[in-house]
Amino acid sequence: MRETEVLIVGGGPAGAACAMKLKQHGIDCIILDKEPFPRFKPCAGWITPDLFEILRVNQTDYPGGLTTFRSFVISIRGFRFTLPVRQYAIRRYEFDKWLLRKSGAPFYVHNVKVIERTQDGYQIDGAYSAKYLIGAGGSQCPVYRTLFKTVSPMPKGSLIIAQEEEFRYSVTDERCHLWFFDRGLPGYAWYVPKADGYLNVGIGGKAAALKARGENLHSHWVQLVRKLDELGLVKDHAFRPSGHYYYLRQRRAKVRLDNAFLVGDAAGLATLDMGEGIRPALQSGIRAAEAIIRQGDYSLAWIPSYSWPSLIGL
Ligand SMILES: Cc1cc2nc3c(=O)[nH]c(=O)nc-3n(C[C@H](O)[C@H](O)[C@H](O)COP(=O)(O)OP(=O)(O)OC[C@H]3O[C@@H](n4cnc5c(N)ncnc54)[C@H](O)[C@@H]3O)c2cc1C
Repeated sequence: MRETEVLIVGGGPAGAACAMKLKQHGIDCIILDKEPFPRFKPCAGWITPDLFEILRVNQTDYPGGLTTFRSFVISIRGFRFTLPVRQYAIRRYEFDKWLLRKSGAPFYVHNVKVIERTQDGYQIDGAYSAKYLIGAGGSQCPVYRTLFKTVSPMPKGSLIIAQEEEFRYSVTDERCHLWFFDRGLPGYAWYVPKADGYLNVGIGGKAAALKARGENLHSHWVQLVRKLDELGLVKDHAFRPSGHYYYLRQRRAKVRLDNAFLVGDAAGLATLDMGEGIRPALQSGIRAAEAIIRQGDYSLAWIPSYSWPSLIGL
């Protein structure tokens, strides 16, 4: 049995940020993830400028590819305009591996199955035990499923479904394009050029609203591929998108039960307007660590529910 102070399930941004903070304060922790890193994570990788400040890392020290956008080309129901911005994009394949290593926490590849309460804390698969447990396993987090799901189910209206593909492509337009509510899509589609010759194309929307319209996401994806071709943005590419789901910010969700905490997607924290999840994942991971360090409350009150203030530079 491996014993530690804090067991973290999930080595994505939420788990790694939590571990980084704990380690900075000399608190022992272990990260378990079912995948070895780097691992594939469907994500456009758009990040806001304050992300590196949140991590207290100098942006120039980031070793991976970082794309800077000075403007977004936005289309809302066909009305097109250019919004001046200062935003970035990373590749999750690189970013998550970098952050995990930076956390300095011991990492084990382990697919967490059985979580039990013990007299002193929590035990995982009879192999790991700790006083504190962090659920950072994303939208399929076993900590959420085992301890929180019955007391705090995720509302169906908050479920976002998405399809995307990241691939090598020689782009002719290096700007980021966003299409909101095209053909009634309850969400948006994106074209995000990345560093080192990669392009990320995707689409996401509210599952319940799509169902109410009698539509599925794939039909919108087909329209997107056609549009990319018509606009000359992506030609002659045989798309093979992968699907994923996650939840938008919950208003009354329980995110702490005794010494078990939920962070990032496991808590359903993506912003209500853009579905931005990386920043809330980092912020919640850090806040959970602070609650353990200070023996205090775990509050998500200061984690923004919307992305637009950061988009327009507020
Ligand atoms: C298509 C798509 C595009 C997106 N685009 C953006 C974007 O551009 N910008 C943005 O800010 N957000 C975006 N998001 C949201 C963002 O990806 C997530 O909010 C973010 O990854 C949450 O981080 P996390 O650490 O909570 O979870 P994750 O990054 O999902 O990490 C969870 C980890 O837990 C591990 N895990 C799961 N189950 C187990 C288990 N049983 N045992 C052990 N380990 C386990 C997984 O392997 C994974 O490594 C997008 C999401 C999708 C689906």
